[in-house]
Amino acid sequence: MTYDPTNVFARILRGEIPCEKLYEDEFALAFPDIRPAAPCHVLVIPKGAYVSSADFGAKASPEEITGFFRAVALVAQRLGVEQSGYRLLANAGPDSHQEVPHFHVHILGGRKLGPLLAPA
Ligand code: AMP
Repeated sequence: MTYDPTNVFARILRGEIPCEKLYEDEFALAFPDIRPAAPCHVLVIPKGAYVSSADFGAKASPEEITGFFRAVALVAQRLGVEQSGYRLLANAGPDSHQEVPHFHVHILGGRKLGPLLAPA
């Protein structure tokens, strides 16, 4: 799948759409999900143009990959959900219901999250 530079997260990265920046460094940007599914629901996105985790893993540099996942861990720590626990979720492709074709990780927490998947 080729990267679509008009996707909403690409537009956020270019500053064309506003977001509440919770964390930013050279590798990653974190902001609240616009439709929170939990009391704590934050998205972390890499700065580079990657469609999915597979695309990110295949094409990003080791520095980007390390920097991104360090940012995810740091954001979760700053959100205060480390003790209570949280879920990292990354959708990829149609069966996962990925809506935005720019790789991102959801950080979900702040309540008991229940089983991993809703019943089919
Ligand atoms: P996914 O289904 O994994 O692709 O998740 C995409 C997420 O992006 C959804 O949970 C949306 O609520 C969220 N989202 C879409 N547009 C925005 C936006 N402008 N700001 C923050 N979150 C957004």
